[in-house]
Amino acid sequence: MKGIITIDGPVASGKSTLARLLAKRLNFLYLDTGAMYRAVALQAQRYGVNLTEIPTLWKLCRNLDLDFRPDGEKTRLYMGEEDISMAIRTPEIDMLSSEISAVKEVRDAMTDLQRKIGRAGNLVAEGRDMGTDVFPNAEYKFFLTAPIEVRAERRYIERVNRGETVSLDDVKKGLKQRDYQDETRAIAPLRPAKDARIIDTTALRPHQVLEKILEEVSPGGR
Ligand code: C5P
Repeated sequence: MKGIITIDGPVASGKSTLARLLAKRLNFLYLDTGAMYRAVALQAQRYGVNLTEIPTLWKLCRNLDLDFRPDGEKTRLYMGEEDISMAIRTPEIDMLSSEISAVKEVRDAMTDLQRKIGRAGNLVAEGRDMGTDVFPNAEYKFFLTAPIEVRAERRYIERVNRGETVSLDDVKKGLKQRDYQDETRAIAPLRPAKDARIIDTTALRPHQVLEKILEEVSPGGR
């Protein structure tokens, strides 16, 4: 699969920042698949759809009108004409997206959509199952990781900077729960692909992770 680079890993392992930087450097499309599961969760929350209402969830996923639109350094996610970029980043949606992503019908719909987007190639796809299930034949695969303490601290700082009142302990608990759910679900669980390069981001700044990855995907071409 030429032109597809996958970046997987647990919560706050540095995937999004890295994937965004990498896509920009290579002039590839950046696909934030976590945002897609978050959009499903938001829609389910708004319509009061329960996780056991499979036919309704199926319909909801198949009718989801999502569009990633570039906005300077960032990408904004639109559902129809509504910018949902902020609405999908609440603690409730953190949890609901993790729960809803374990539903087979939801994963099937998102996987189809992600592969459709991937057909054009030149893509940096970021998520949990990009290298294992969605793009098993991707040209390059990376799995970012860091100890829970490091990741919790990162997410805590992010949320405090957003003006939220949270405790480090609660952030850590939330991360642990989400990772556990993602790692233990029956379908497409979070784990590195056999042929993925694992990078521990604990002591690395985003641009250092980027350099490491560029050494592999674009040697000499930086
Ligand atoms: O990456 P992010 O934290 O935004 O993802 C939200 C949730 O969506 C994750 O906790 C995970 O349960 C789910 N997800 C997934 N597969 C992906 C991307 C995200 O199951 N490829």
